[in-house]
Amino acid sequence: MDFDTHFKTALDTLKTEGNYRVFAEVERQCGNFPKVKRYNGDDVQEVTVWCSNDYLGMGHNPKVVDSMVQAVQACGTGAGGTRNISGNNHLHRLLEEELADLHRKEAALLFTSGYVSNWAALSTLGAKIPNAVILSDEKNHASMIEGIRHSRADKVLWKHNDWRDLDRKLKAVGDRPKIVAFESVYSMDGDICPMREIVEVAEAHGAMTYLDEVHAVGMYGPRGGGISEERGLADRITLIEGTLGKAYGVVGGYITGSTALCDFIRSFASGFIFTTALPPAVAAAATASIQHLKSSDTERLAQRERVARLRAKLDAQGIPHIANESHIIPVMIGDPVKCRMLSDILMEDWGIYVQPINYPTVPKGTERLRITPGPLHSDADIDHLVTALTSLWQQCAIAHAVA
Ligand SMILES: *Cc1c(COP(=O)(O)O)cnc(C)c1O
Repeated sequence: MDFDTHFKTALDTLKTEGNYRVFAEVERQCGNFPKVKRYNGDDVQEVTVWCSNDYLGMGHNPKVVDSMVQAVQACGTGAGGTRNISGNNHLHRLLEEELADLHRKEAALLFTSGYVSNWAALSTLGAKIPNAVILSDEKNHASMIEGIRHSRADKVLWKHNDWRDLDRKLKAVGDRPKIVAFESVYSMDGDICPMREIVEVAEAHGAMTYLDEVHAVGMYGPRGGGISEERGLADRITLIEGTLGKAYGVVGGYITGSTALCDFIRSFASGFIFTTALPPAVAAAATASIQHLKSSDTERLAQRERVARLRAKLDAQGIPHIANESHIIPVMIGDPVKCRMLSDILMEDWGIYVQPINYPTVPKGTERLRITPGPLHSDADIDHLVTALTSLWQQCAIAHAVA
């Protein structure tokens, strides 16, 4: 077989569909967020990022930066091994204690990313609980889907956020161990699940609840414990999973739950056992970030105010965006080529960076620009974005009229 020909043909298909991914090359500048340097060949331009998952700018918080620097100087760079073989640093234990406390659970377990935590935890639960069935919200993240697939357990999809459908499907499963897997904030539409109803339905059927709070930790609840904290439901959820890479501004993933649950995953999950532990400095920075957001509401409040301001200005200009209760503003485009083109124009002509969100991240026909305002976007940044979008929308309307 001519492998390269096969690769190129597949890539050409992506390109003609408009789904070929082009990464913007940026250089984040500590202290200057949300401005970044953007490299385009030999050209370097300063642009404003509007699509970062460093939702609160914690990746630049002086306490977080200092903890990482100090820990690197104290411990060096890498962990030096897996958790089992010499890599279990004191700083990992401190972080796990911080995480358990964040969700008021007995224990926590760290992974190298949120993706790996979902993949490893769900694949282990599904594979190692005899006769288990996993009931998965149809819009769950790829990391959960892959974990469930790898577990080889029976999987039942339920309609997105539809607890009545979940109830019917739990009943149909009957007397087997059941795991209900869902998210709090769905990151592409920005909608929030009906958590109380889901938890009550799961409890009524004796099912375990597995909650991905990746887009909510640090962001919601008085201490940043997510939607489950905000709604007072954390103690009724069996396992809460999160990331250290989004609102906390570092990298890594985790699960929290009972001591027995975390020890079970620690002991059986391949994706936990056979990989080098996170660098101690990453653990130190994440701990500092979580601690900060446990006691400070400043970032969360400023962020909400920025979101409300941008939404109001988009409304005033008639720029359509999905209404939701979260911090995520999806502006629907509905076509991959157009979405890419709008994003390119924003970058080239306006110095605004919003990555186009195309298939397979979202279903075909629902391509969008996903805007995530943060506490560090200024009034001028917001005005500039709205001016740019208004101008593009007018040009599109003219294009429609001519065509
Ligand atoms: C980003 C994301 C993850 C993965 O987290 P990482 O730490 O980035 O690997 C898991 N679940 C959801 C819903 C996500 O959006």
